[in-house]
Amino acid sequence: MASSYGYPFEQQHCLSISQFSRPDIETLLSLGEHYLNLDVQKSPDNAVLTGKTLVNLFFENSTRTQKSFEIAGRRLGADVINMSVAQSSVKKGETLLDTAATLNAMNPDILVVRHSASGAPALLAQKLSGSVVNAGDGMHEHPTQALLDALTLRRHFGKDLGGIRIAICGDITHSRVARSDIQLLNILGCEVRLIGPPTLIPADADRWGVEVFHDMETGLDGCDAVMMLRLQLERMSGAFVPSKREYFHFYGLDRSKLAFAKPSAVVMHPGPMNRGVEISSDIADDPEVSLITAQVESGVAIRMGILHALSEAQDGIS
Ligand code: ASP
Repeated sequence: MASSYGYPFEQQHCLSISQFSRPDIETLLSLGEHYLNLDVQKSPDNAVLTGKTLVNLFFENSTRTQKSFEIAGRRLGADVINMSVAQSSVKKGETLLDTAATLNAMNPDILVVRHSASGAPALLAQKLSGSVVNAGDGMHEHPTQALLDALTLRRHFGKDLGGIRIAICGDITHSRVARSDIQLLNILGCEVRLIGPPTLIPADADRWGVEVFHDMETGLDGCDAVMMLRLQLERMSGAFVPSKREYFHFYGLDRSKLAFAKPSAVVMHPGPMNRGVEISSDIADDPEVSLITAQVESGVAIRMGILHALSEAQDGIS
């Protein structure tokens, strides 16, 4: 049977941007757009997950991602179960594989997992019969964040992002968001720049299809969009920057640094923000330049799109 959106999406899981073809990505973005435009609260026609169970398994803290998967699952009619690790047997020493075997016996249709270890969702995907969605694994990937970022950019710049110059700034080394965004933005034809201190940009980053800069003035020149990243202190062993104050001085986005980009440039941040460290409040809260709230809205819509596509692929509807 053909899918309800007219494209043969055949992926069982959502683990990494690299697993998707460009048509897969265009399809997920179109589904995200569809759910953005729909009055999802009221429409009875979008309950494509009715009778399915979605388990949110978060081994790391999350506000936006966990809640948006919960809302997305519920809006599509799924039973949603939130397992927080603080209440699970992991705290009593259970291994990830034993947790997987236990979960599998409960037959979840979709498992959304966040873990501090890179590759944990891929490992679970091998052990579970349902679909696994990577909601962030260590420093590796955060594919649904990249998709929501692309959806947000398309809402602002239009469908064709080819040639849009976008700078990703700050702690690239420890950022799974950067790794997923770089791949996706390259697929969509954007010109991607990385800006940050040498200590926070991997030595081989120039092989990722990006241009690397170490100062905001040259890096932001001519940029259409500026994506700020948080210092991932929880993934750092030792000090990577002299002090937060000095970091803000050189790399924190304020009015004077934003002026290096195009006058029409917009600002993004995946959250959580550290105000006064990587971004000033007047930029973050300025609706004329900030797309940060739009990113959160896009997050629910794109996750509805992803769950929809995975669910139909599971049922052999593609
Ligand atoms: N929320 C994003 C993540 O989970 C970004 C961050 O934590 O800084 O990777």
